[in-house]
Amino acid sequence: MKRFKGMKIKIVACALSMMIVFSMAQIGVKAETVNEVWVNGVNIVNAEGQTVKCGNGTATYEEATNTLTLNNVQITNTNTSFYAIENKKDKDFTVLLQGNNSIDIDDRTGVFGYTAANITFSGGGSLDIQAPQSISNAKNITFDDVDITASASSDGAIVTDGNITIKNNASIICSGTYFAFNALGNITITQSIVEATATAEYGNAFSIIDNIVIENNASVSAISYYPSLWTKNGDIAIENSSVKAESTHDMGIWSNGDLTILGHSEVVAKGKNKSAGSIGAFNIIPALNEKVEVYVGTKESDVTALEGSPFMIKTDLKHHSVSDSSYFYSKAHTHIFGDWVVDTVATEISKGSKHRACACGHIETTEIAMKPSIDEPSTEGPNTGDSTNVVFAFGMLIFSTVVFVIARKRVSK
Ligand SMILES: [Zn+2]
Repeated sequence: MKRFKGMKIKIVACALSMMIVFSMAQIGVKAETVNEVWVNGVNIVNAEGQTVKCGNGTATYEEATNTLTLNNVQITNTNTSFYAIENKKDKDFTVLLQGNNSIDIDDRTGVFGYTAANITFSGGGSLDIQAPQSISNAKNITFDDVDITASASSDGAIVTDGNITIKNNASIICSGTYFAFNALGNITITQSIVEATATAEYGNAFSIIDNIVIENNASVSAISYYPSLWTKNGDIAIENSSVKAESTHDMGIWSNGDLTILGHSEVVAKGKNKSAGSIGAFNIIPALNEKVEVYVGTKESDVTALEGSPFMIKTDLKHHSVSDSSYFYSKAHTHIFGDWVVDTVATEISKGSKHRACACGHIETTEIAMKPSIDEPSTEGPNTGDSTNVVFAFGMLIFSTVVFVIARKRVSK
């Protein structure tokens, strides 16, 4: 049975590798490095004032930093290679987004680079890309505090031979046919929101050769035919983040390395017959002194707690029957306490104690204050050693004396 499962995964991996090669072949041979940066059908390096009008907005270029600033543009033209924006320079490229920008082309790629240069999208603005392929670059792609929506009609949405980094409250909502994200390196999503869809049969929302890291309050949802979070060689780690991963024909999450869920994460994995798994370890690692609840079932409404849940220490779920369920759900445990139970009654001379318990076995204990002595006069409030009242009373005494003296002086006039 195990052997069969391994073989099936291998076939899946092989098919996907071929798809990656296919996709790269579509990109074509590496372009020559020349002094050209194309936008809306114009080489902006040679344009007057290094400015190109794009719909109601303008694209401007700064040569020193190889930065293209898009200010409320609508780009509808491509260069002769069918790219709406293309960096042909062998120098890191920044696309600065101001306001709301769009690319809408029938053929072929929204933003393209096939030199040894990284592309960074930053500036706090937005970019909507409607194209057969959204963004493709030979080196790393970074999204830093930008909103991207991208719908790729005949290929991957965001494709790179390098790494993808999404950070600083970026929001990336993208869909492609065979993949939303395809990286030969890693993808790291930190403190950002990502929604990824692969629409074609045999597609993966995340098709990543090395590692997938989702961390620091990131929120990721993904859906595809094959595992929506999939690594070919690397690991998948989800730390203090929320992930919803769904596959319509396989497992929601599959790692050919390790799969690790850490700290305060909330993870849902839905699959056809199985939910989440890995070739390596499938570890749950709770935050210090905390626990993680794990539920499995066939759907959200019929889950039951996995044996041993909530887990207090690092636990490899491969030793549990997680993968046989089509629905997996894990979240950091929150204690739900019963009523307080008094263990020692407080008296006039000694404090008492009480406890309350959570079903997970955690017990919280606290003391009960001593009873007030019956001999003490029942004046307002206990004697706390606070002298505020004394000072106040003394002040009032002086004040009323002064008023009395003034009043007497007035009467005597
Ligand atoms: Zn508890």
